[in-house]
Amino acid sequence: MTKIAVFPGSFSPFTNGHKSIVDRALSIFDKIIIAIGINSEKNQYFSIEERIEWIKDIYKGNPKIEVKFYEGLTIDLCEKENASYILRGLRDSHDFKFEKNIAQTNKSLNRNIETIFLITPPEISHISSTIIRDIIKNGGDVSKFIPKEINL
Ligand code: ADP
Repeated sequence: MTKIAVFPGSFSPFTNGHKSIVDRALSIFDKIIIAIGINSEKNQYFSIEERIEWIKDIYKGNPKIEVKFYEGLTIDLCEKENASYILRGLRDSHDFKFEKNIAQTNKSLNRNIETIFLITPPEISHISSTIIRDIIKNGGDVSKFIPKEINL
């Protein structure tokens, strides 16, 4: 059976933290769909189009990676894409508390979908898209926190 995972997130922007999760998950899954959720409550600092282009550029030539955007529930996207797994990263206990509730809720909504967590390496666990946006807003250099394909 083909193992398909959806990696949902805002990816605004996609960081070395996200890349670490995807790169390591490539040895576990046959296909990973990096899915940019359109969340009206979150500030869309970067457009959907540029976020999609950046991620496609990072993984160009890799047939196991697909990039999409979606609206609505992640479990509905999983069903549509025949994905049995949701992939998420864990940085710390704060992430754990938040992610545990989402994973348990998703499980109670659809028993066939498992959430798989990968723990981030310590040297990049401080990286968050929110902090990167703050550095950009204040004119700082973010190049060490994001993949080289992204020019900000
Ligand atoms: P969301 O808005 O859904 O939290 P994000 O784009 O912020 O989306 O994050 C998507 C996923 O990537 C989440 O599982 C998050 O915990 C994980 N993640 C974010 N930053 C890192 C990092 N530095 N190391 C590992 N995982 C990370």
